[in-house]
Amino acid sequence: MLESSRERLRQNLDRVNERLAEACRRAGRDRYEVTCVAVTKLVSEEIAKTLVELGVHDLGENRPQELWRKAAQSPKNVRWHLIGHLQRNKIERTLPLVERIHSVDSVRLLEAIEMEATKQNRQIAVFLEVNASGETSKQGFDPSELSAVVPAIASLTHVRVEGLMTMAPLQDAETCRPTFAKLRGLRDELAPQLRAPHRLEHLSMGMSNDFEVAVEEGATFVRLGSVLFEGARE
Ligand SMILES: *Cc1c(COP(=O)(O)O)cnc(C)c1O
Repeated sequence: MLESSRERLRQNLDRVNERLAEACRRAGRDRYEVTCVAVTKLVSEEIAKTLVELGVHDLGENRPQELWRKAAQSPKNVRWHLIGHLQRNKIERTLPLVERIHSVDSVRLLEAIEMEATKQNRQIAVFLEVNASGETSKQGFDPSELSAVVPAIASLTHVRVEGLMTMAPLQDAETCRPTFAKLRGLRDELAPQLRAPHRLEHLSMGMSNDFEVAVEEGATFVRLGSVLFEGARE
């Protein structure tokens, strides 16, 4: 990788970390409550590897096949996050590779992951994706469907539901604030209905154009792509 690209990546990363720290300070939150997942979908494995060398160990992909490809070449200390739709026929191959799945968007998928996790004898943390903005183009549970998922969650033994995820409308950050506040409100409503080991402690929300507002509204995972890689792609 070109030294100039590497340097640019380092600068972007420093700047993102400063902006995250400032957003946490404004919200009276501890910086360590927020994990930055670097979304590598538009960059090469080489750039992804450089990120790891620069200390970023949480990487995300929105397409299972691309995650398989990059995970096969990534250092062992990477925690991979699947942040996009998972087709049921791709669960078997995806499960051993990922730390978390942010994008469980149906009970059918939740149950299929449970079945495969049981077969593979492993535990997996997932988030439920919620269409909090109400846009028809978005994946995820409708907010009104969430309490009906509680009985299905209660019977899981290998899948732990640990949070909610949403995608805000692609608009300016302040326009996204109500969507983030809504996800937090849904979390607060749903959390008391779940029993250990399920706990809705996490909110995965905020992308390059709106992550500071997401942090102010309680995000514990932000998913960042373009803001990290600007000017660093060869
Ligand atoms: C691409 C993607 C991101 C990152 O988007 P940027 O705007 O480039 O930061 C975050 N979340 C999901 C689900 C994505 O597909």
